Amino acid sequence: MNNVFIQTKDGIIEILRGMLTVFKHVYRPPITLEYPEKKPELSSRYHGSLALLVNQDGTDVCGGCKSCMKVCPCGDLIQISTSKDKNNKLVVDKFTIDIGRCIFCGNCTEVCPKKSLIMTNEYELADFSRESLVLDKKKLSLSPEQSEKWREMFDKDI
Ligand code: SF4
Ligand code: SF4
Repeated sequence: MNNVFIQTKDGIIEILRGMLTVFKHVYRPPITLEYPEKKPELSSRYHGSLALLVNQDGTDVCGGCKSCMKVCPCGDLIQISTSKDKNNKLVVDKFTIDIGRCIFCGNCTEVCPKKSLIMTNEYELADFSRESLVLDKKKLSLSPEQSEKWREMFDKDI
C-alpha cells in the first residue's frame, strides 16, 4: 500500500517537472525553422554544391591544372579535359562534377590555386536521376555578378 503512495507521489513530481520544462520554453523564441517556407542563413563557409567562379568578362578563372581532380577522395567524380590554344595556354574544354557521389569534403576547393572552385550554400540538390546530378561546366559556372558576390563574401570572412 505504502508503495502505491510513493509511486503516485513520484509520478506527480515527474509530471510537474515535465510541465515546468514546457512552461519554461513557452515564451522562448523557437530555434527551429518552418522549412521549406523559411530557410536558414548560412555562412559562406558552408559546404554546399560546388561551383566555378568566372572573371568579370565571363572567361574561365580555372586554369585546368587538375589539382582538384587529383585530390578528390572519391575517385573519378571530377572530370577535366584541356587543350592548348594558339598561345600555348591551357584551355578547359570539359569540366564535370558528379555531385551525386560527392561527400562535400571541400578538398578540391582548398587545393585550387586560382580560387576558382568554390562551395556555395546551395543544399537543395535532390533530383530524379543520377545523370542530372552530373554538372557540366555550364551548370557549374556562376555569372560574373555572382562570382563577384562570392569573392566579396570570402574576403569578409577572412
Ligand atoms: S568536395 Fe570532396 S568529394 Fe566532392 S568533389 Fe571535392 S574533393 Fe571530391
Ligand atoms: S584546381 Fe582549380 S584551377 Fe585547377 S583545375 Fe581545379 S578548378 Fe581549375
